[in-house]
Amino acid sequence: MFSARERYSDVKESKGQVEQHSHLKYPHRLNFYDIPPVEDITIEEFETCAIDRLRVLAEIESSFARNRPYDELKTITLAQCQKHLPLHSSSAHTMDLDSERRRDHIGHFVLRLAFCRSEELRRRFVKAESALFRTRYDSDDHTERGEFLNSRDFGWIKVQDDERDLYREELAAAAPITKEANADGGNYYKVKWTRVPDLVEKRRVFLKGGYAYVPSREQFSIVFQEFQMTLNKALEMTAKALPRLDEDTRIVPILNNLSQGFLAGVSSEWSTASAAEGGGITADMVEDLARRHFPACMRNLQETLRRDRHLKHFGRWQYGLFLKVLGLPIEEAIAFWRKSFSNIQEDKFNKEYKYNIRHLYGLEGKRANYPAKSCTQILTADQPGSSDSHGCPYRHFSPDNLQTALLSMYSSQGLTAADLPEIMSTVKAGHYHVACTRVFEITHATRGVKKGEGVGDGESVTHPNQYAARSRELERGKATAVKVEADGDVVMG
Ligand code: SF4
Repeated sequence: MFSARERYSDVKESKGQVEQHSHLKYPHRLNFYDIPPVEDITIEEFETCAIDRLRVLAEIESSFARNRPYDELKTITLAQCQKHLPLHSSSAHTMDLDSERRRDHIGHFVLRLAFCRSEELRRRFVKAESALFRTRYDSDDHTERGEFLNSRDFGWIKVQDDERDLYREELAAAAPITKEANADGGNYYKVKWTRVPDLVEKRRVFLKGGYAYVPSREQFSIVFQEFQMTLNKALEMTAKALPRLDEDTRIVPILNNLSQGFLAGVSSEWSTASAAEGGGITADMVEDLARRHFPACMRNLQETLRRDRHLKHFGRWQYGLFLKVLGLPIEEAIAFWRKSFSNIQEDKFNKEYKYNIRHLYGLEGKRANYPAKSCTQILTADQPGSSDSHGCPYRHFSPDNLQTALLSMYSSQGLTAADLPEIMSTVKAGHYHVACTRVFEITHATRGVKKGEGVGDGESVTHPNQYAARSRELERGKATAVKVEADGDVVMG
């Protein structure tokens, strides 16, 4: 996957973990990713390992966008890791630890390739990866964490007892000696002060002769800074090496898709739906469902359809696939579009539109089972022109139009003008799906959804079908999960 020269220099420079233990190829749960994977990796693995990791990183990004405190971010991140990127401690003998850690390793390196290509992507990747590393570090077993720290050279010098006694007062003044510190052994480590700028800024270390004396309970600062610095350097090196990959027609499209993943999270894999339960929905139900359960993109399409009795091609495609995955069978879909296009003559409808609807359901053309579009696809592909109605209102409406539309769509579900500044500031920062998630929370507050809970477990909206299905689930008061497969099929969980 990487050139021999890169591999050699990485191995030489690192105190990497791969060759240090005999029974496990990956002896530690924590990883500084010093050495790239040097084995054959299938394209499928290449993609799935990266997508699983990206799901976790995208949720971390959303947590930053929502200003979640660290404890909340940690809980959500660990829950996401449990789902998509489990990494058990070395004492979990029943698990295939090497396989889990290998997936973690591969995913990290694929995302390096995807996110090294601009300064902005690098910055966001380092921030999200560092948060992931920190949550894992904080939740790691104490002994295993110690073993990991001993496996690398962090360049710190342990302060000897006589030196510690000499500066006892100064050390205590900078970082009061607490019970917790004593339990830690009361050790201090010296590093160049430039390596712990956060502790220096907060005056939490004693400085002497260019060194910061870091108490063991603040040791993480050194590790964290080192992780960030190493990753930053590695990304810059990868960016220089990347042009060599540009001709690879298998990998480059995957990398391009992955780097879009931060814009609206990764397409939701989990959703809830009535389709699989009650045999789907009927044409007559759509309008009422739209009012109660649809996200802004689909409500906008439904309202445009009702007003104009027509939708243009991309609007039909976006809405038609959404309704299909929601559970509208083909006969009902034809009935729905026929009724909605009430200005169109029967002949014209049959010739021009019926074929398109059957195409959406894989019954015409190349007979593919097209999936519904995810938020990322709606936000980034087929940009709408001024007379189009597809797309995402949070991204594609002007601020004034968006505010008016949101109040008109959702004021009956509890959204008020007082909610708009928070939503608009998220939109302004480019976190469109986070704004949509906040609207979901506000409009489902009467169903018990609290701020920060998102569509469940703190997850953000990443797919319009996920939004609608979760909304319907809340109304029914059930928690039946179903999976929306990549091909758009809905499967009961
Ligand atoms: S964020 Fe996604 S679900 Fe929400 S309106 Fe935009 S495209 Fe639709």
